[in-house]
Amino acid sequence: MAYDTENIFAKILRGEIPCDKIYEDEHALAFEDINPQAPIHVLVIPRGAYVSMDDFTTSASDAEIAGFMRAVGNTARQLELASPGYRILANIGEDGMQEVPHLHIHLFGGKKLGPMLKTTG
Ligand code: 5GP
Repeated sequence: MAYDTENIFAKILRGEIPCDKIYEDEHALAFEDINPQAPIHVLVIPRGAYVSMDDFTTSASDAEIAGFMRAVGNTARQLELASPGYRILANIGEDGMQEVPHLHIHLFGGKKLGPMLKTTG
């Protein structure tokens, strides 16, 4: 899938629409999810134009991949989640039910999060 430069996270990266910023560095931006599914629900996105984790791990440089993963950890530490713990998740493609076609890691925390996946359906 070609990268859509008009996707909502591309617009957030360009500053065309606002976000509640949590963390940023040269590789990544982290901001609050607009529809939180946990007391803490933050999205971490790479600055580069990558559709998904598949695209990212195919085409990004080692420095981009390392920098992005470091940024996920830095975001969690900034939110003081390392000790109580947290969950990360990335939806990829149709079966993964990815809605926004710019790679994003969901970071959930702030309570015991329960089972990882629904066991029915
Ligand atoms: P996906 O289903 O693609 O893994 O997750 C997309 C996420 O982006 C959803 O959790 C949704 O609430 C969030 N989202 C969609 N549009 C916006 C937006 O304009 N701003 C923010 N902060 N989050 C958004």
